[in-house]
Amino acid sequence: MFSTILIANRGEIACRVARTCRRMGIKTVAVYSDADAAAMHVALCDEAVRLGPPPARESYLRGDAILEAAHRTGAEAIHPGYGFLSENAGFARACAEAGIVFIGPTPEAIEAMGSKSESKRLMERAGVPLVPGYHGAEQSMEALRAAAAEIGYPVLVKASAGGGGKGMRVVATPDALDAAIEGARREAANAFGDETLLIEKYLDAPRHVEMQVFGDTHGTVVHLFERDCSIQRRHQKVLEEAPAPNLPAETRTAMGAAGVAAAKAIGYVGAGTVEFLYQDGAFYFIEMNTRLQVEHPVTEMISGQDLVEWQLRVAAGQPLPLSQEALVPTGHAIEARVYAEDPANEFLPSIGLLRHLRPPAEGPHVRVDTGVREGDRVSMHYDPMIAKLVVWDSDRAAALRRLRGALEAYQVVGVATNLAFLASIAAHPAFAAGEVGTGFIEAHTPDLFPEAVPADDGVLALAALDVLLRRQDDAAAAAARSGDPFSPWHATNGWRLNDDNYQRMVFLDDGAARGVTVHYRPEGYRLDLPGGSVMARGEIDADGALICDIDGFRRRVAVVRQGLDLVILDRGRQHRLTLDDPATRAAEGDQGGGGLVAPMPGKIGRVFVEAGQVVEKGAALVILEAMKMEHTIVAPEHGTVTVVHFATGDQVDDGAALLEFEPGGE
Ligand code: ADP
Repeated sequence: MFSTILIANRGEIACRVARTCRRMGIKTVAVYSDADAAAMHVALCDEAVRLGPPPARESYLRGDAILEAAHRTGAEAIHPGYGFLSENAGFARACAEAGIVFIGPTPEAIEAMGSKSESKRLMERAGVPLVPGYHGAEQSMEALRAAAAEIGYPVLVKASAGGGGKGMRVVATPDALDAAIEGARREAANAFGDETLLIEKYLDAPRHVEMQVFGDTHGTVVHLFERDCSIQRRHQKVLEEAPAPNLPAETRTAMGAAGVAAAKAIGYVGAGTVEFLYQDGAFYFIEMNTRLQVEHPVTEMISGQDLVEWQLRVAAGQPLPLSQEALVPTGHAIEARVYAEDPANEFLPSIGLLRHLRPPAEGPHVRVDTGVREGDRVSMHYDPMIAKLVVWDSDRAAALRRLRGALEAYQVVGVATNLAFLASIAAHPAFAAGEVGTGFIEAHTPDLFPEAVPADDGVLALAALDVLLRRQDDAAAAAARSGDPFSPWHATNGWRLNDDNYQRMVFLDDGAARGVTVHYRPEGYRLDLPGGSVMARGEIDADGALICDIDGFRRRVAVVRQGLDLVILDRGRQHRLTLDDPATRAAEGDQGGGGLVAPMPGKIGRVFVEAGQVVEKGAALVILEAMKMEHTIVAPEHGTVTVVHFATGDQVDDGAALLEFEPGGE
């Protein structure tokens, strides 16, 4: 076995590989770009080597720099993870030439399977069933037209070198074919540097079912069962599970045999995935991925095996740890890909600071594979995945219950996420019934994008209680510091010089004002809300969570504060309210330290002021361009700009201090 390996990747997969290495007593070397110098994967590895600037092309895709790092650190093998160089035959070859073990298949196997056309020719010879289609070398328009006509419409035009759904086009009728071919060719040439296309029968309601296979250097190949990855958005996987629901036993057996035959046909070594489409009882090979897949944890959960350990053993020349007969699946596992993206805005990546990040508690039923921590940034340079949330239980219904609970418990504030979208899939009766298919999300779209609901009385009560309790804690701390802890001036329990012991609070919910009147009572706060009154009390626990008791209903919720904004996370729902309280506004403004910060990441469009300039309240200071809109930062009151931190054209992160401001003066 190796003493030291280099992990040529970042994020969750680099962390996941490092964990197995640590358990096996193997030393790990991380590599990183400048954007990742303080990243979790760097912290988890024993040593780390800088590769270069943030763009992948200048860092994680630089095979030469990675090999140099391996030499410098004495790493004997390189684990490529997925993506980046994991399916790059040239890199695998360069590793071999440099005397370093590439933890993956041979360059020849990567090459054979890297081309969808070539792999189909191979699979056809090995007797693996294919989607009816054309995967020939002749690429003239006439040849492709004739092929499409013979296959029968609708057809799917695909880039042979494709991946991630790129260069793929559905063509319903012959008159749309030429344009689709030209478009796919352009996209394929740009994305993969190879414009070879293939044409397939477009199946109207398939499921995506894939086989995990493993081969060793002694000629043994086994499969570790199937995964159903039918829940997809734009041909990209969203939820994956194992075993595939409602799959007939004989299909499972036949697919396992086909997966093993496919791997054997190319003398496959290491972890691989043979992907099939399954429709009307038949299955068809679409492609083979010659690496560890993103969704491998569901296989680990049902097989009890660590696939990274298997990879390391095989790469070190050892035989596969278990025979086919010894592999027995147990229970059911589901993985949800948690992304920093905005479902309401066409799933655009949401970059920014992970201000508050609390994954659900891990245990035998819940696993969270992540590469970020609270306080980290989701960068524009890489895939905006936050984590893979994986659940396991004895059967699918129980696993699904775990998934719903874990999604509800997952707390992320700072960036938009797909958590609510995932939760609505997990809650959908058709998903619960196992009615999965690649068209699932499209078919159920109206149910999957829950409308934002206005904050109800329950949410208002939580917001008010949080404000009151934090004020009380702040006052107690101030009193303790003042040397006169019992002074009535520090009390916040409603004590007043006169009898007027109530207070009015106003919250803004998406611009709409919602009032709460607080009456101080010995047993707590009586809150008069728009729909009636409740008794509220509670405390802020050591973790910063709000332990609340509203009319005797006690629970723990999270309220994340930033200035006057409150994000209330309660049972999987998020509400953002702004406290519109003049006293608090003034008090919190004082604490602000006079810096004016960027409300979101963006680019400085214009700077209107310079250091030393005196401005009136409301004067425009800076224009920030973000999300295709302009945001004007104005002077909060009359005062002097003391420092300007940025110039026109600069990129800024959210929360960055744009300028320093000193209120007051003439
Ligand atoms: P990529 O390598 O870009 O991921 P794949 O060939 O693996 O492309 O296909 C990705 C997804 O596209 C599949 O999971 C399926 O949803 C859809 N797809 C691929 N081929 C077909 C087909 N012939 N008919 C219908 N859907 C298909």
